[in-house]
Amino acid sequence: KNRSPDDLRSPVCVVMGHVDTGKTKLLDKIRRTNVQEGEAGGITQQIGATYFPMDNLRNITERLNKDLSIDVKLPGLLVIDTPGHESFANLRHRGSSSANVAVLVVDIMHGLEQQTIESIKMLRAKRVPFVCAINKVDRCYGWQPLPGAPIRESLAQQPENVFSEFETRTQQVITQLMEQGLNAKLYYENKRFKQVVSLVPTSAHTGEGIPDLLMVLLTLTQRLMVEQLMFSPIMEATVLDVKKIEGVGTTVDVLLMNGKLRRGDTIVVAGMNGPIVTQIRALLTPQPAKEMRVKGEFVHHEELRAAMGVKIAAQNLEDAIAGTSMFLLTDDDDEDELKDAVMADVADIMGNVSVTGRGVSVQASTLGSLEALMEFLRTSDIPVASVQIGPVHKKDVSRASIMLEHEKEYACILAFDVKVTREAQEMAEDLGVRIFTADIIYHLFDHFTKYLEECKN
Ligand code: GDP
Ligand code: MG
Repeated sequence: KNRSPDDLRSPVCVVMGHVDTGKTKLLDKIRRTNVQEGEAGGITQQIGATYFPMDNLRNITERLNKDLSIDVKLPGLLVIDTPGHESFANLRHRGSSSANVAVLVVDIMHGLEQQTIESIKMLRAKRVPFVCAINKVDRCYGWQPLPGAPIRESLAQQPENVFSEFETRTQQVITQLMEQGLNAKLYYENKRFKQVVSLVPTSAHTGEGIPDLLMVLLTLTQRLMVEQLMFSPIMEATVLDVKKIEGVGTTVDVLLMNGKLRRGDTIVVAGMNGPIVTQIRALLTPQPAKEMRVKGEFVHHEELRAAMGVKIAAQNLEDAIAGTSMFLLTDDDDEDELKDAVMADVADIMGNVSVTGRGVSVQASTLGSLEALMEFLRTSDIPVASVQIGPVHKKDVSRASIMLEHEKEYACILAFDVKVTREAQEMAEDLGVRIFTADIIYHLFDHFTKYLEECKN
């Protein structure tokens, strides 16, 4: 009821792939292409996301001579800004994912890399359809750029040897994807969107292939996801981040995927010390791009509609956990039921700690990244004594130091994407507690496994 194929919300698109494949550059290019063509109007920076309205996308894809107005009824596309493996993990949403569609970026010169493969695993586990951008085509030797052009126009005017390098490298990517159990084809040869992954050659430097990439994303979502994208009055949101803002207090950045949020609404979010029930004091989005430099200035809203990136100010958010679902508490809801529901994910993941109290300490920025870390430790048979979300403080070091008396090699804190306070660092050095830090999960794994090897010798 209330849902209609004529009233759709914007799909949420996440950009994933190995570091340095060009994820950020691609997004920048899409933004800038629009601005250069004098069509900046409508593109909005949101909290953790960028919104591209349909008019804008239509302008870029026009060069493909496809009339998208015929079948695309989507209002636009919401692209998650902090792309990458870890941020996708943060898009947890009641056991699945908040992303409707993804772009997997591969560097044509490197083919599939470690994080590409991890991204594929994650996308499949969460059943998120994706297209694969084969980026940096301009690096094929002797490439003749045709800025902003649809990729087939550009390929048609390449010298034979350049085209041949492009073909060989693309074929290699297809073979590597096959090794991962995926069928893939260049998008213009792909007739089976559902079964076969579409490859879109792109260059984030020249903008070649970007019209194609957007067109493929729009047709994929419009064709396969109408049901899922019908606007629903039932509010769905995921907490992406918890941040302290000067003059505002602790806020949560949420991805509003469905329904509406109003100032004054009562929300339920997961916290380190149990569920938090609080009232929305302010609904905020950033100032329009021009005024971004005015520090701490947000636009206040009475009401916001999905899909959208929103900052929420409310009381008692200090120990809220990123990577969890947020619920709305209305007169029809049972408060206790919602409290249990919001903590269920947390209980699942926290429940994996060793009952004997023997093992390493684990600390991460969000529930999603904590989950990924715990999964690694589980498969590696490394016991975990305690888990925390948020920065490493002295009390965490003190807790980890207990292991010094039992199993010295476990007197460690594996800290992923979190700050370590100076006091905690000093205390760790004094006591002999090792703190491993990294921003990329597998680097953390590598450092720690190397250290364990050393302990054995
Ligand atoms: P990310 O780590 O995936 O976000 O990668 P970035 O967007 O930061 O890009 C990594 C590097 O690759 C930067 O030096 C970019 O300038 C470069 N780069 C990205 N896209 C392209 C491309 O299409 N062609 C070329 N030649 N270089 C690119
Ligand atoms: Mg980047």
